Amino acid sequence: MSKKIITGVKPTGTSMHLGNLMGAVLPFQKNAKGNDAAIFIADLHALTSVKDGAKLREQSLEVAIEYLSIFGVDTPITIFRQSDIADITKLMWILTNVTPYALMLRAHSFKDIEQKVEKVEKEIAYNEGKLSLYSNTEIFKDDEKAKGSEEKIAQLRQELDELEKEWENKMNMGVFNYPILMAADIIGYDIDAVPVGKDQLQHLEMTRDIARGFNKFYGKNVFTEPEAIIEESVATLSGVDGRKMSKSYDNFIGIFDDEKKLKKRVMSIITDSAGVDEVKDPDSCNIFALIRVFGTDEEVETIYQKYLTPNIGFGYGHAKKALLEILTRYLAPYRATREKLLQDIPFVEAKLAEWAKIMNARLEAKMKVVREVVGVN
Ligand code: AMP
Repeated sequence: MSKKIITGVKPTGTSMHLGNLMGAVLPFQKNAKGNDAAIFIADLHALTSVKDGAKLREQSLEVAIEYLSIFGVDTPITIFRQSDIADITKLMWILTNVTPYALMLRAHSFKDIEQKVEKVEKEIAYNEGKLSLYSNTEIFKDDEKAKGSEEKIAQLRQELDELEKEWENKMNMGVFNYPILMAADIIGYDIDAVPVGKDQLQHLEMTRDIARGFNKFYGKNVFTEPEAIIEESVATLSGVDGRKMSKSYDNFIGIFDDEKKLKKRVMSIITDSAGVDEVKDPDSCNIFALIRVFGTDEEVETIYQKYLTPNIGFGYGHAKKALLEILTRYLAPYRATREKLLQDIPFVEAKLAEWAKIMNARLEAKMKVVREVVGVN
């Protein structure tokens, strides 16, 4: 049976990289087959951190263009901008009133920084000799005292200062209420299933709690509790330094980078120092890891054998060149579509408007019931 599925993507800056493509975008496209699938550009969520209107608008459009470039302009997946949906924040407000404060206090997004502050505060106390090193309690035995140097204490105090500033500047109520808007984004459209990484399971669980809470408060089965789709088999793609490919490590290969940048990134892949005529281990090589994912079966097999054959003059430079060719070919159609779409922004906007109409109608149908049940217009 066809299921309604949805995912959101925050338009917060850098464009998509190969890790996003293999770990999230293509698996979603696969899940979308035979289902009624939608992706929203979470611009309202991005307001928690982006405080530049022109930039947010531009980044939201860029995300739309990138998805259209990958899925194709005739995609059956509904791509829409969250802020184009008129009643989504009204639904959020209604849900806010059935969401226990205690539930929100348990959200990861909120707790992480709070725990960091607590940890540094404790470290300061240890170093000042005010807390037992071993038991987290106030000191009563001298031998448990660990006095840190003045320097260490000053450094910790500075760290605490910065964390407190971060807390003040970044922890706004948008961050705190984030899971409630996320719940509206899901249950407002009667979504059956949401693909999530393990790290987001808690937020989906909150969505389920909020749906259940609403139904219980009003004694009516208005909202469906969504299921999680956890894609266990998706492997983590490594970046140019061998760590997980990630924006935050700046070790990623961008899908829409121009040739020069792509070349620079590929050439910067870290390898061991084996020479051209030495045997190399493909299974531990950062270049081969990418060839394996993006090459054809034949290319993978041929290059694999070259790694294992000595004295054929095949070095890491040759492997990088092969990878560059493979990636250039693999990414060419995506890049070509993006270039074309950039020349026709009104077409992209028209597509977004068409999709927003579908999702507005869907939310409106649900809101008719919700308004009736809660007693507001
Ligand atoms: P991010 O923008 O870093 O939050 O990534 C968005 C999604 O892309 C993640 O939830 C993952 O599903 C996927 N992803 C990001 N980096 C990688 C990676 N190196 N390997 C596989 N999947 C990734």
